[in-house]
Amino acid sequence: MSEGYCVKCKAKKEIAEAVEEVMKNGRKAIKGKCPTCGVVMFKILGGKVAASSSSSSAPAAQPPGTETANPAPASPDPAASSPA
Ligand SMILES: [Zn+2]
Repeated sequence: MSEGYCVKCKAKKEIAEAVEEVMKNGRKAIKGKCPTCGVVMFKILGGKVAASSSSSSAPAAQPPGTETANPAPASPDPAASSPA
């Protein structure tokens, strides 16, 4: 059950033959028809489908072992690194 705005009737209508679709940006949308005039109605829903799919790809983007591979502190003064 989804309501949408029909541009032809210029009124809110119950979307007939409503089909839930997921757009490329991950948002949900309802696609259907106006029960009165039959014009195609498209209603974009607010929430995203799955927030876990976008967050799981975040840590994989960083290459493993960039800073942790070199534990030695970079000292700008050569005298500080010389052994005593
Ligand atoms: Zn209509």
